[in-house]
Amino acid sequence: MEQPMIWLSSPHSSGQEQKYIDDAFAKNRLFAFGENVDGFESDLENYLGNGSHVALLNSGTSAIHMALIVLGVQKGDEVICQSLTFAASANPIVYMGATPVFVDSEPQTWNICPQALETAIKNRIAAGKQPKAIIAVHVYGMPYKAKEIHEIALKYNITVIEDSAEALGSKYNGQKCGTFADLSILSFNGNKIITTALGGALVSKDPAVKEKAVFLALQAKDPAPYYQHSQIGYNYRLSNVLAGIGRGQMEVLEERIQQRRNNHVFYKELFAGMPDVSVFESPDDKMFYSNYWLTTVLVSKEGGNMSLMQHLLLDNIDSRPIFKPLHLQPVFSDALYFGNTVAQDIFNTGLCLPSSSNLTGAEKERIKESVFKWHKAGG
Ligand SMILES: *Cc1c(COP(=O)(O)O)cnc(C)c1O
Repeated sequence: MEQPMIWLSSPHSSGQEQKYIDDAFAKNRLFAFGENVDGFESDLENYLGNGSHVALLNSGTSAIHMALIVLGVQKGDEVICQSLTFAASANPIVYMGATPVFVDSEPQTWNICPQALETAIKNRIAAGKQPKAIIAVHVYGMPYKAKEIHEIALKYNITVIEDSAEALGSKYNGQKCGTFADLSILSFNGNKIITTALGGALVSKDPAVKEKAVFLALQAKDPAPYYQHSQIGYNYRLSNVLAGIGRGQMEVLEERIQQRRNNHVFYKELFAGMPDVSVFESPDDKMFYSNYWLTTVLVSKEGGNMSLMQHLLLDNIDSRPIFKPLHLQPVFSDALYFGNTVAQDIFNTGLCLPSSSNLTGAEKERIKESVFKWHKAGG
C-alpha cells in the first residue's frame, strides 16, 4: 500500500482554535471586527514586545504592500530587495509602480549581504536614484545580519522593511525578529510556523502606522456621515473568524518553535555521516537564533539536490528546491542586480526538507530510510 505524503510544511492545529471561531459565530462577528481581531493583535504585541504595534492584514503579501504604501513609495521609485526569497517579498514593489533592485546573499545566513547592499546603494545614489526602502528577509527563519544591515540603512537614511514572514519566534542577539525595522511583516499562510489559513500582519513601533494601516485596509472611509474617501483604500483587513484561528495557534507558538528546531536536530544527526550533504545551520546560535521554519541542506555533488528530491518523492516525501533568486526569474529579467553568485549557488545545490511541526516519529523513520537508500545508491 502506498504511504501517505509527508508534506514540506503542513498546518498544525492546536485544537484550541475552534473556541475562538465559535465565539465569532455566537456573537455574529463574521466580519473584520471583534474580539478575535483585537485579541490576536494584542497576543502578537505581547509576544513580540519592544513596543510593537500590530495591524492584522489578510496576507503577508498585503502587509508588504501596505508597508510600501505607508512609506509613501511612488511610481518610478527604486526599492532594494534581497534576491534569495519568495516572490511575494518583491511583487508589491511592482504593485506600486516602483522598480525592484535585487541584492545577493552572504553565505552565513543566506540573507542580504551587507557589502553588496552598500555597493547597490552607492551605485543607485550615483545614478541619482536614492533607494526608497530595503526589503530584508529572514529566509527560512534564519535572522539576517541586523546590526550591519540597519547601520547601512541608517548611514544612507533608507527605511528597512523587515520581511519576517518565515521568522516568527526567531531572534537576533536575543531580540525577536519582526521588531528590528520601522516596518516589519508577518505571514500566517498555511505553510508558516503558525497559521490563520490566510493572513498576515504589519508591525511597527509607531502606533500611528498601525492606525493608518488599519484605516487604509478597511477601504479608507473618512469620518463622515456618508461614504467619503480622501485616499485610495484597500480591502486588506483580516477577518474576525480567521483571527480566531490565530489566537488558538498563539497558545502553542513556543511548542511549534521547539518542534521545528527538533526537526533540525534530527536532520543534523541523519546527515552526520554523509560528507557531501551539509545541513544549513546558524553561524552562532546566540546571535542568530533560528526557528528553523524549514531545515535546508546543501549537497556538494553536482545535481545531488535534485536527485535527493526525486528520490524522496518516489517514497511520497515532499521536499522543495531553494527559492530561485528573484534576479533570475523571467518576470524580473530586466531588474538591476548587485552581488555575486552566492544566492545562485545556494539555489543550485540546496534543498528544503520536510519540516512540519507535526512530523511524527514514524514519518522521521520513513525519511531516514529513504535518505539512506539514496545515499547507498551513490547520491
Ligand atoms: C510567505 C511569505 C510571504 C508572503 O506571505 P503570504 O501570507 O503568503 O502572502 C512573503 N515573504 C516571505 C519570505 C514568505 O515566506
